[in-house]
Amino acid sequence: MGRVIGVLESRGPGLENATFDSLGRPVRDLRISVTDRCNFSCVYCMPKEAFGPDHQFMPRAELLTFEEITRPATIFVTLGVRNLRLTGGEPLVRHRVAPLVAMLSAIPGVDVALTTNGSLLAQKATALRQAGLGRVTVSLDALDDATFGAINDVRFPVARVLDGIEAATGAGFGAVKVNMVVKRGVNDDSILPMARYFRGTGHIVRFIEYMDVGTTNGWRLDDVVPAAEIIERIDREFPLQPVEPRYPGEVASRYRYVDGAGEIGVIASVTRPFCRGCTRARLSADGQLYTCLFAGAAGQDLRAALRHGTPDERIRQLIVGTWTGRRDRYSEIRTSQTSARPRIEMSYIGG
Ligand code: SAM
Ligand code: SF4
Ligand code: SF4
Repeated sequence: MGRVIGVLESRGPGLENATFDSLGRPVRDLRISVTDRCNFSCVYCMPKEAFGPDHQFMPRAELLTFEEITRPATIFVTLGVRNLRLTGGEPLVRHRVAPLVAMLSAIPGVDVALTTNGSLLAQKATALRQAGLGRVTVSLDALDDATFGAINDVRFPVARVLDGIEAATGAGFGAVKVNMVVKRGVNDDSILPMARYFRGTGHIVRFIEYMDVGTTNGWRLDDVVPAAEIIERIDREFPLQPVEPRYPGEVASRYRYVDGAGEIGVIASVTRPFCRGCTRARLSADGQLYTCLFAGAAGQDLRAALRHGTPDERIRQLIVGTWTGRRDRYSEIRTSQTSARPRIEMSYIGG
């Protein structure tokens, strides 16, 4: 077959029927963007200058229907995918997402998760849980309204996101992961307050290095607070010790508080790239299949196939062909030149 034997092939049980890319990475995760729209305008993701009133979002007819999402998702599961994650844009702004969750969670052998900005979670958590959603990740970048409002850029209050987290716990999700993107000079002074606030609650804050996704957020390397610095700052106040990864290629590096108050994670996509363990495929809201968050070229058009009566076996071949030809490792080869290249926006491809 001529494929490179990679570290993940020795990941052990469950990989017998997996589909590997040209660098030996199996496909294990499918991130599904259900909309490119959002009710926030986060400065690092959908800045108003680029996503203002004149921005053309996808017309409704272009979005995959729930049936059109479920079909390729089911095929992906036969190829080794075990985790489906709904994302966007803001997935909860799409009308009635719970029925989609129900359709996806009925596929045997998968966990269905969702990443949300939390703004609509308080009202939707119970329905999502009842539909079979397994896990929720909530994004929150600060605990004070001035900082958070300046980042989401629609003055959305912190308290309502915290209500969403509480509602998720109440609905049976238990502890949630809380994603905080750290941008130097913008919210790095919120690292310690976030650690302090969520310590002892069971919720796990994951500090994410600010990335050069898309081309509209004006990313500069100087704006990145390296994961090592984040850990150092927290460790000074609350001593930490590293936790062994649950499996090779785990995206977040985990640390536990020495005093037993729980754990945190750091996602060091810029300073410690993890392309070697990257097992994620991405389906955009209009049905394009991508194999990297930093894709520069058009994806594989699954929607055309889905809408033209293509049989499952042919769709399976399209997916296998795309994955087995994959060589992506953008974060490992990132330089100031690569970050000037054209790239798909994160809200489109699904974060
Ligand atoms: N709207 C949802 C949310 O914010 O959770 C889901 C989509 S969002 C694109 C997914 C994740 O990507 C969020 O946790 C967000 O903070 C993160 N993200 C967005 N832009 C980013 C950037 N430039 N660097 C690092 N993470 C980013
Ligand atoms: Fe919307 Fe999420 Fe992007 Fe913020 S990070 S603009 S909430 S999609
Ligand atoms: Fe995966 Fe691409 Fe990110 Fe590397 S840069 S970890 S290949 S999505």
